[in-house]
Amino acid sequence: MALEGPAVLVVGAGISGATIARVLAEAGHEVLVVDSATHVGGHCHTERDPETGIMRHVHGPHIFHSDDEHVWHFVSRFAIFEPFEFAVDADVGGRLFHLPINLDTLRAFFGKDFTSAQAEAYVGERAIKLDHAPRNFEEQALSSIGPELYEAFFKGYTQKQWGRAPADIPAAVFRRLQLRFNEDRTYFHHARVGMPREGYTAMVGHMLDHPGIRVELGTPYRSDQDVGGFSHVFYTGPLDGYFDYQFGRLPYRSLRFENFRVDGDFQQTATVNYPDLDVPYTRITEHKKFAPWEHFERSICSREYSFECGAKDTPYYPVNLASGSSLLDRYRQAATDLEGVSFVGRLGTFRYLDMDVAIGEALKASRSFLERRNANEKVPAFFHA
Ligand code: FAD
Ligand code: UDP
Repeated sequence: MALEGPAVLVVGAGISGATIARVLAEAGHEVLVVDSATHVGGHCHTERDPETGIMRHVHGPHIFHSDDEHVWHFVSRFAIFEPFEFAVDADVGGRLFHLPINLDTLRAFFGKDFTSAQAEAYVGERAIKLDHAPRNFEEQALSSIGPELYEAFFKGYTQKQWGRAPADIPAAVFRRLQLRFNEDRTYFHHARVGMPREGYTAMVGHMLDHPGIRVELGTPYRSDQDVGGFSHVFYTGPLDGYFDYQFGRLPYRSLRFENFRVDGDFQQTATVNYPDLDVPYTRITEHKKFAPWEHFERSICSREYSFECGAKDTPYYPVNLASGSSLLDRYRQAATDLEGVSFVGRLGTFRYLDMDVAIGEALKASRSFLERRNANEKVPAFFHA
């Protein structure tokens, strides 16, 4: 891992690491990017299924959605984005309903031919009134949509996804999904939604394709190893992993995908969620539906199972708890006490970040790094508030 000169080391070739590497290389820095994986792209990794030729979202469905024009401008330099409409159904007791909950869902679920105003009033009557701000996922859900919708669409799914009671999960997780009193069924509320035509791995590959960037794959980084005088380290791996888990392990959920192939099509929408607790998986994804501009006779789908991440498993989702975490505070403090290392990205900051937010934060982190270097100021461990 020796490199001449005081290069910057970026640990992780996911979208956060690739964004930082690109901005710094364009500003004239030599950058070494290492990743323990044998491909770039991190959790957004896509590859063609050798049997069907379909672009598979290897670590789960990834749809690019953002209102941030700077982020769109940045990613559009490295990929052609196809406009995309993400539709999701929920299978509740064998019946399919549109998600997020919209007017069609409400009409079908309650068996009433509501107008928009009637549906809003009906849900409003069911919502449980609290005398305080919602403190967790369950309170947020019950006070927004009432018990019937919560139990059908959210309670079981959230228990399966997070392996914890919804009352232990932060209220903000529920607020990721909208409730709509119209027939709009697009999953995301952002103005623009798209898919990189050749997949995310190709996009990240283009980001890293710069004479100032060297990429070493299959190269795990350990903070106790001699990495040869880097002027700064940007670390996008798990925060507790940087410290070799010295205070204990932070909680993550891992995922397992069970792939199967069928002739023709398997389901109507790209993703079908299964909130019922007696179904062991959370959702089924049909990959070819993420590339509607391509045509295939066959289909590959993935059943997604969530489980608690052990020492040998891959961390997918940091588990933030409604009650906060003194262990996380301890790792954050340890990180803040270091010199010459900054923590960015989903695992590095232990937050659930969508891709556009991860890129937006990585852009800000790299610009802030360049400004501080020019002004001879200390570079912080964390750049987000
Ligand atoms: P990562 O992609 O995790 O990259 C970190 C990299 O660091 C990895 O490549 C890893 O191998 C490497 N690494 C870790 N430790 C070391 C080490 N010690 N040495 C060397 N390398 C190391 N976002 C959306 O916007 N839309 C979606 O639809 C969406 N769907 C998602 C679905 C799932 C199932 C999941 C889990 C996430 C989803 N996301 C989605 C979020 C998205 O995956 C993240 O925003 C994105 O992956 C963050 O990129 P990152 O570079 O911060 O982290
Ligand atoms: N959720 C749920 N039922 C669903 C879909 C989502 O209960 O059918 C909950 C679940 O807790 C999830 C959260 O809502 O973590 C946010 O959903 P989102 O689709 O944003 O999660 P993602 O798949 O992007 O992690």
